[in-house]
Amino acid sequence: MSNLLIRNVRPNGGAPTDILIRDGKIDTIGQNLQAAGVATEDGRGHIAISGLVEAHTHLDKSVWGMPWHENAKVATLRERIDFEREKRLEIGIDPHRQSMRQAIQLAANGTSHIRSHVDIDTTHGLALMEGIIQTREALDGIIDIEIVAFPQSGLVTRPGTVELLDQALSNGAEVLGGIDPCGIDRDPKGHLDAVFGLAEKHGKPIDIHLHEAGELGAFSMEMMFERIRALGMQGKVAISHAFALGAPDYLRVAGLIDQIAELDVRIVTTGSPSSTVPSILRLKEAGVKVAAGCDGIRDTWGPWGQPDMMDRARILGMKNGLRRDVDLEHALHVCSTGGADVMDIAGYGLDIGCNADFTLLVGETLAHAVVEVAPRPLVVKRGRVIARNGVAEVAIP
Ligand SMILES: [Zn+2]
Repeated sequence: MSNLLIRNVRPNGGAPTDILIRDGKIDTIGQNLQAAGVATEDGRGHIAISGLVEAHTHLDKSVWGMPWHENAKVATLRERIDFEREKRLEIGIDPHRQSMRQAIQLAANGTSHIRSHVDIDTTHGLALMEGIIQTREALDGIIDIEIVAFPQSGLVTRPGTVELLDQALSNGAEVLGGIDPCGIDRDPKGHLDAVFGLAEKHGKPIDIHLHEAGELGAFSMEMMFERIRALGMQGKVAISHAFALGAPDYLRVAGLIDQIAELDVRIVTTGSPSSTVPSILRLKEAGVKVAAGCDGIRDTWGPWGQPDMMDRARILGMKNGLRRDVDLEHALHVCSTGGADVMDIAGYGLDIGCNADFTLLVGETLAHAVVEVAPRPLVVKRGRVIARNGVAEVAIP
């Protein structure tokens, strides 16, 4: 736990001030602070915000830093899942090495916390998760990693998967995942009963991938709402993607959003350019907690993405058609504080007593910083400088 004095920064774009960190926590905020013997950094008038939060990614999938992976075929969701499961060893996607690469880049770009879905299936067992746990330990004090045990290949249709998820939740996964109850297992009742049953048994929250669009996705959501009510799991369930909330039927979507707000269901969006996505402004109006993530970065699914939540804030802004400064600020909020709300991160924030996890941003204002996506001048984790000008102070394997 470090002590550090950072001079001349502008918290959330406000007036210039100094921040004094003691034992990894924000101790004092004020002008012309004195702290004998404490290392000092010059913030040069840059904006300071709390650490960015990557609330939806897949650290076990990226080919970042490996030879270019040629995507040669058009494939459905199911085909991409099967291809990845069969080929990941052949391609050489080492989960520990690849997650180190992605997580360190995220940290260098100002991210303080990651929620990563990690595949659990009957081909790989818990091996992929073990690689990510190794990374989590290696990066202790650099970036915090939360693991979602993710049955990407299906659950009902692949006997043995429920038992593996059970083990994963006992062995270090904090959250239980799920995926398209209708589209992947083609058995929404079977899939959701298994997921909610396991989560209840372990007392763990749920974060389900729901790519199902339109009425099919709405149907799956309603089946989730029924189970949340029956089990009293308000505030314990997140829906990732939630493409059904981007459907054009305004009143149908309004009914779903009302229930999401009532049950404190959290929404995690990627602002996927190729899909219908939930409106972050509509969810804000309804008081729903919303986080964002980059999803897979340069993997066998697709070539796109950067390990950078400011890049994602910009994508969210473009996909949601945002123009007003106040709305760009909200896109940034979703990529930072919104993630902390969705993940229930304790000690998060720029207030006295909070963990000293923050990043400096280049820009006159927060909205300007979202558009600019310039390298982060300085990133601090628990009071320790971990990156300068977008370059990590930690070796990347
Ligand atoms: Zn995903």
